[in-house]
Amino acid sequence: MTFKTRFAPSPTGPLHLGHAYSACLAHDMALAQDGQFYLRIDDIDQSRSKPRWEQQIYEDLAWLGISWSQPVLRQSERLPRYRDTLQILWDRGLLYPCTCSRADVRAAASAPQEGIALHGPDGLVYPGTCRPETPHTGPLPNLPLRLDMARAIKLLNTPLEFLETGSTHTGETGQIQPQNMVKTVGDVALARPGMGASYHLSIVLDDADQGITHVIRGQDLFEATQIHVLLQRLLNLPTPTYHHHGLIRDDAGKRLAKRDDARAISKYRNEGATENDIRQKVGLSLSLD
Ligand code: GLU
Ligand code: ZN
Repeated sequence: MTFKTRFAPSPTGPLHLGHAYSACLAHDMALAQDGQFYLRIDDIDQSRSKPRWEQQIYEDLAWLGISWSQPVLRQSERLPRYRDTLQILWDRGLLYPCTCSRADVRAAASAPQEGIALHGPDGLVYPGTCRPETPHTGPLPNLPLRLDMARAIKLLNTPLEFLETGSTHTGETGQIQPQNMVKTVGDVALARPGMGASYHLSIVLDDADQGITHVIRGQDLFEATQIHVLLQRLLNLPTPTYHHHGLIRDDAGKRLAKRDDARAISKYRNEGATENDIRQKVGLSLSLD
C-alpha cells in the first residue's frame, strides 16, 4: 500500500508541543508503513504568514529528528491553481460573492427571524444574506466568495463518507449527512478577503495534487472534514483516509493555541531539552537514534 502523509503548519507563529506531536506522529506512521512524509507550508494567509516563522519550522523539525520528502509545497506559490478551481465552481453556478464582515454575519445570524445563531466548523453559520436566487454568470469576480451549500448538495448523487482511523473518534464512522450540512455548516467561504482561496479549498487541492493518502492532524479539524470531503466529491478528487489525533493540553487542561509561546519547541530547545524530552512530554515512543 502506498502511504503518503504530510504535516502542514501555517507559518504564523512558533511551533509548540501540539505541533511537535502532530509532526512526530505523522512522521512515525509514515516510517512504520514505509511511506512518505511531506512538509507543506500553509501560508495562504499572507497577512499573517512570516518568513521567520517558516524558517523556524524547518529548524524545529530538523531538531526533532524529522526529515521530509521533497518538494516542500508552499501555498503562496499555488494561487493560479486555486483560482482555476474557483473558476470551475463559479462556472457551475456554485459560488457567489459576499463581502459581509464577521460583524455583519454575527448581526444577521442572530437576527430574531433567524432563531439561535449556530456555530459550525467554519465559525458562525452564515445566514445566506448575499445568496442569489439564481446563480451568477459572467466572469469570476475578484471578491470573497461563498459556496452555495444547498445547490452543491443537490449535485451530489453519492453519499459522503470517509474512513476515520483516529482513536479519538471511535464509534464515528465518518458518515456525513449532506442534507444536514445546509443547516450545520452553511455557505462556507471558499475565497476570503485578501486571500486567493480559503483554507478549506487550498488544503483539499494540495492534498490531492500531492497524492496524500493519509491525513494525520488534530481533532480540532474533525468537524471541518465534511467540508473537505464535499469539495473532493464536487471536484472529482480522491478522499484520503483521515486520522484525527487528540490535542495536547497545558497543565490546566486548556488546548494549546498558536500564541502559546510558553510551549514553543524553540523555548524547550534553548533550555537544553532533547528531542526525546519532547517526545516524552507528548506521550510518543522515543526515537532510537
Ligand atoms: N494548516 C493547518 C493548521 O495549521 C492544518 C491543515 C490540515 O492539516 O488540514 O492548522
Ligand atoms: Zn454577504
